[in-house]
Amino acid sequence: MTDLTSLRSDGAVQVKGWCPGTLRPLAASDGLVIRIRPPAGRLSMAQAQGIAALARRYANPMLELTNRANLQMRGVDPGRHAELLDALCTLGLVDEDVSSEARRNVQVNPLWTEGDVTPHLALQLGELLAGRDVPELPAKFGFVVDTGTAPCMRNTHADIRLERHVDGVLVYADGADGGLVVAPWAAPQHALALSRWFLDAGGAPAGRGRMAALVRQRGLPPEWRPTPVPDRALPAPGPGPQLAGQIVGLVFGLVQAETLAALGACGALRLTPWRSLLVESASRLPTCAELITDPGDARLRVAACTGAPGCAQARGTTRDLALALAPSVAPGHLLHVSGCPKGCAHPKFATTVVATDHGWDFIRRGTAASLPDYHGLDRAALEQRLREETAHVAPL
Ligand code: SF4
Repeated sequence: MTDLTSLRSDGAVQVKGWCPGTLRPLAASDGLVIRIRPPAGRLSMAQAQGIAALARRYANPMLELTNRANLQMRGVDPGRHAELLDALCTLGLVDEDVSSEARRNVQVNPLWTEGDVTPHLALQLGELLAGRDVPELPAKFGFVVDTGTAPCMRNTHADIRLERHVDGVLVYADGADGGLVVAPWAAPQHALALSRWFLDAGGAPAGRGRMAALVRQRGLPPEWRPTPVPDRALPAPGPGPQLAGQIVGLVFGLVQAETLAALGACGALRLTPWRSLLVESASRLPTCAELITDPGDARLRVAACTGAPGCAQARGTTRDLALALAPSVAPGHLLHVSGCPKGCAHPKFATTVVATDHGWDFIRRGTAASLPDYHGLDRAALEQRLREETAHVAPL
């Protein structure tokens, strides 16, 4: 277990303004933001219920699931951060130090079943990355352990991917068309070696950079790509039953502490990057307003950031508008409503609406920073535009 006394005395607990963790929270206007990165993307029943109790005691009781499969607490009083850390440490959710926590950026295919190598690989890789002899990687540099029967996380942002192969595990660089097949036990070491190649090849000048950009610029050495990456991949799973349990969606990825506790009483929870949770072995689920169990629920077709009044940069309210527009979004499409061009809720292409000081900008297919196709729309005009556009544009 982490010794928090020594962490604090040597200054390891930091309060900074980017990529928060438990040891390095982000200072926001409503208090500290704490991001929990559960080992192998899984919370035991005790951990889930423990976090819920801590959120009620120390933070805003509304927690957030991030698109990197982390769980975020907001509104923590800086004066009580140390107390909260002690409690999270007891739950086994705090790393040795800030750097270890930052490097342990591993997302996991949540569909694994008993006897599957996936959770072991994810734990092994996480432990390796948290080790002291690992080079510093860019803050957003991440790994995906997608070793289920077929990959389903190709659309999840990551730099190094691990997928199941008939002869072992395929380790490959994001953006590459080939990778290296190795025995499962050797896959984490090879993933780490590939991250070292990324650094040695100059992928992170000034500490920033992504693998796909480097692969585009200078290609990958032949020894890292002898086996083609297969085309076959599954779409991300939506709400509903799976062999491992039930997936439940959360509206905008928000979950009340009470709901988290109720879900944690049903089974261990696996966090997904799709703002949903897989509840292991659950036959029954609690009835809570923010839970989405129907894959056809229109609320799954919208993404929205905090917007006004929660975010100082927002030029309008976002979530109410997104929910109001959801029924106008055709199945298979996604509407992203953003309070400003930063586009925090969905950094990828989608039908996008951005708040401005002069109404709403509408982007047919782009990010919140793209040039708008229409300026200054009001809500009625937005609804009409949406119906027309999503009826003619192919789903993303
Ligand atoms: S997209 Fe803009 S308005 Fe929305 S949360 Fe991010 S910074 Fe705030």
